[in-house]
Amino acid sequence: MAKMKAVIFKKHGTTAELEEAYVPIPELGKKDVLVKVKACALNHLDLWVLGGMPGIKISMPHILGCDIAGEVVEKGKKAHGIPLHQPVIVAPGISCGTCAYCESGWDSLCAKYEIIGFQNNGGFAEYVKVPARNIIPVPGKLGMESWAAVPLVFLTAWHILVTHAALQKKETVLIHAAGSGIGSAAIQIAKLLGAHVITTVGSEEKVQRAKALGADHVINYRLKDFHSEVMRFTKSQGVDVLFEHIGGETFTKSVLCLKKRGRIVTCGATAGRTVSFDLRYLYTHQISITGSYMGGIDELKRVVRRIQDGRLKPVLDQVFPLREARKALNRMAARENFGKIILKT
Ligand code: ZN
Repeated sequence: MAKMKAVIFKKHGTTAELEEAYVPIPELGKKDVLVKVKACALNHLDLWVLGGMPGIKISMPHILGCDIAGEVVEKGKKAHGIPLHQPVIVAPGISCGTCAYCESGWDSLCAKYEIIGFQNNGGFAEYVKVPARNIIPVPGKLGMESWAAVPLVFLTAWHILVTHAALQKKETVLIHAAGSGIGSAAIQIAKLLGAHVITTVGSEEKVQRAKALGADHVINYRLKDFHSEVMRFTKSQGVDVLFEHIGGETFTKSVLCLKKRGRIVTCGATAGRTVSFDLRYLYTHQISITGSYMGGIDELKRVVRRIQDGRLKPVLDQVFPLREARKALNRMAARENFGKIILKT
């Protein structure tokens, strides 16, 4: 059986569990394609999958990596209409494609929904097997490393700001963590929609980078209280929309940053899964709280069109060779990055 190079882990733990190995090239089902990985972006999800999540079992050894750019080199018998040896990205969510949720564009609510690199083997490898319907051709001139920085964060941010929050022109939005992949994508989408953007960063050197992305106000949350700053910038009105992906105490304080009838959309709980706030505040201010998870393939295609014409730009931090996956993940874990960290195969 033909083998490929991959970075794998055999048991849950820290990045010390990662090792380079030769593993069999995956065998294709009828509707699958084999993608030769050119670049794969890192996400915090990789660290959670590596660390292990209660109640979720994955098969071992496991290959991480959900943001894949490359080219299709082999197709299953029923994988029609997919170009070979052309630049493509892979939509990170796998779903059935035929249920009511999938048909209405809500792929991530499908009962069969799985994320590549999470419930399936991912792109920290020379090759990855994915369903043909997940393939999105892209123009090659941007470079595969830049394209790998697109799928998960832009899709998630689009689903939150466009689909859930319906962010409007001239509204004000607070986006946490400009330096995170998702924050840097969200700032650009919010500006594209014509909104006024307030964002947070954890160091002074990230302030300018956040402004360069289009943020109107940047708060260094290590130096200043973000709630007081938001109130100062909005003349005590609060923001219309809050893009939350931190959780814990940040969530609790974020609720207080909202304008009356404001809406908060959340997609992450890095700093704590259980939150508390005063329900009376919620109902008297008529605030809405919405959860968001990934997004649909059609939404990703809309993002790709905007990347293609330059209205949205992938934000790259550093590129590492695949064999340095551990070093790359450690950089992300330490939050030293601004934008996406990429592994090049
Ligand atoms: Zn479905």
